Amino acid sequence: MPLHDLQVNIGSMKQIPPRSLEDPIQFIKGVGPRKAILLEKLRLTSIEDCLYFLPFRFEDRTQFKNISQAVIGEYVTLTGEVLNAGTMFMGRRKRVFEVIVQDKTGVIRAKWFRFNETYMKEKFKTGQKIILSGKSTLNKRSGLEIIHPDTEQVSGEDVNSLEIGKIVPVYHVTDGLHLKSMRTIIKNVLDKYLHLIEEFLPNDLIQRHEFISRADALSQSHFPPQGTSLSELDAFKTPAQKRLVFEELFLIQLGLAFRKKHTGEVNTGTPLKTRGELIKRFVKLLPFTLTGAQKRVLSEIMEDLEKEKSMNRLIQGDVGSGKTIVALTALLTAVDNKMQSALMVPTEILAEQHYLNIRPYCESLGIELSLITSALKGKERQSLYENIRTGKTQIIVGTHSLIQKDIQFKNLGLAVVDEQHRFGVLQRDAIGKKGDHPHLLIMTATPIPRSLALTLYGDMDVSLLDEFPPGRKKITTEIFYENRREKAYGILEKQLQQGRQAFVVCPLIEESDVMDLKAAVTVLDFIKDRFPDYVACLIHGKLKKEERQDIMSRFLKNEIQVLVSTTVIEVGIDVPNATAMIIEHAERFGLAQLHQLRGRVGRGAHSSHCLLMAYHPVTEEGQARMKAMQNSGDGFIIAEEDLKIRGPGDFMGTRQSGMPLLKIANLLRDIRVLETARKEAFLLIDQDPDLKAPEHQPLNKAIHRFLGEYLELMQII
Ligand code: ADP
Ligand code: MG
Repeated sequence: MPLHDLQVNIGSMKQIPPRSLEDPIQFIKGVGPRKAILLEKLRLTSIEDCLYFLPFRFEDRTQFKNISQAVIGEYVTLTGEVLNAGTMFMGRRKRVFEVIVQDKTGVIRAKWFRFNETYMKEKFKTGQKIILSGKSTLNKRSGLEIIHPDTEQVSGEDVNSLEIGKIVPVYHVTDGLHLKSMRTIIKNVLDKYLHLIEEFLPNDLIQRHEFISRADALSQSHFPPQGTSLSELDAFKTPAQKRLVFEELFLIQLGLAFRKKHTGEVNTGTPLKTRGELIKRFVKLLPFTLTGAQKRVLSEIMEDLEKEKSMNRLIQGDVGSGKTIVALTALLTAVDNKMQSALMVPTEILAEQHYLNIRPYCESLGIELSLITSALKGKERQSLYENIRTGKTQIIVGTHSLIQKDIQFKNLGLAVVDEQHRFGVLQRDAIGKKGDHPHLLIMTATPIPRSLALTLYGDMDVSLLDEFPPGRKKITTEIFYENRREKAYGILEKQLQQGRQAFVVCPLIEESDVMDLKAAVTVLDFIKDRFPDYVACLIHGKLKKEERQDIMSRFLKNEIQVLVSTTVIEVGIDVPNATAMIIEHAERFGLAQLHQLRGRVGRGAHSSHCLLMAYHPVTEEGQARMKAMQNSGDGFIIAEEDLKIRGPGDFMGTRQSGMPLLKIANLLRDIRVLETARKEAFLLIDQDPDLKAPEHQPLNKAIHRFLGEYLELMQII
């Protein structure tokens, strides 16, 4: 129901009895149009939204402390009397509202930097008894204080308060909506709707895991029963919280199990003949023998390709583990079966790189290979599209331009998507629609933590490329600050003297950022001055394709020794003679990106150096990232570190990946529960693939409500 309709009906609304958890939040006493708008800012529009809007923290107000017991840096709840309150001025502009509170042991100051003066003056009158809750800090000048505390006036009838003598929930709120009213709203929601909260988990599952009911779980996750331990609450480990975490992960895994089942049953893929003539000729062309892992992964792929059902496989392999050859073998297998194949990558530079890498093989094998870039215009583009449509072009390399509407394949048999995490579920599906259920191979450029893999790619079969080609030499990673720059240059110089080559990478956060480009030019000039005996060149995303290719091929031929670049070299570039890399402003880069960049060295027979140049001030996170780089070369370990440093919400742009956002579960904290949820979900879908059994109807409804749009994207419903 739109909000404006509600506003008209507001008078009668309050009387309407609860119907379902989808009822609008205005059904709740105390929520009028104004509050509804504020709640909408927090994405709370229905009763159910509120039920699942869990506190992010709890406060133990079962015990009040004396002011003298407040520990600097810790949360504390105090009661006292307002001694004085008013606006203070700090300098000309800055205003602070200060309330001095005292008890029999001492004095503490509560301070607000954003406040409504009239409101505050009304609220905090001398002599008023209040409760004060927040983190106490020490101000050198004025002593003990709490910035922006939660406060509450104490009056006689407050015995039954939601706020006192209990462990109380703390919610994220928004300007104009107080924590206290948030608590009251949630409490009212629970009181009015608790009886409508239905169980949807299957009975046997509930018993196996001794879960509490959904209604109890929701109620207790907001207002913990007497005696609940604060540390258990903070760790999200109370029975109520555990049940809700499970529930969320279980629904997602059910969706993935559905999807996997569905791909298997509905998709009739084209079985391919593997290890044919072309592949045999190709393997003979390789200047090396395949690693054990490459062989194993390839045979897993071959097995998939021979099936009626189309392949849906993810390859996880660290930088430099040799994914390209694996991909190419798959691409060629399709061609060997008179079908087309495509390689989709996230950036044009990487597309060019792959194209250049693959081209010699294709030329030797007499295979038509094309590169699609956005730079292609007019006739050239027309004729390329025509060749793809008629099937003259056999292997196509490109960015997401491959999935544009105007590109039609004659018969796309197989698609490889490199660096899937930059694309997301949607594009993964889009390339699949370019053919009649083509086989799909997805590669991650860097490993991702297991918990995330199970969630993002939980419907796919996974192959691990967990072995490096032989003879890889060590990469030493060191952190430098500006004052030790010359030291880093010394290391670089030594490599150059030995005939090696080097990268100097400058951050370019935004492709359009002119300032950063200027910085890269400055770095180039500096390098030219410092290393006059060597050729240094700058490569960046704004250069024309021809210029870029020219620079890259000169670097490959060692006509250029130092390649100064923006992050365009992040992925895919393969120059074994490059053994040193300086990363400027290393503190600014993400961990996955640093690891990718470092993967550009250490690819040949010589040991290599990765020199992280950092500039003060470095954030704690920046420091943690560089340390992680220094401590480990293992992409899987680094990925776990990254998840820890960044937190899961942010990790690898999960937000754009098309995955439903986790509201309750946390991939870092709840990996155990995730594994259990996954096992249970796949088991259930095995037993009842369409959740048709009468006892699974509540679950069936729940999964549709929960995954809604996502299920549609996955083409499950
Ligand atoms: P990534 O997994 O990062 O894409 P690449 O496919 O670019 O790795 O391979 C890294 C380097 O290792 C390339 O120079 C490639 O030619 C080489 N390579 C791949 N497989 C082998 C192998 N079995 N033996 C020796 N070198 C290999
Ligand atoms: Mg690669």
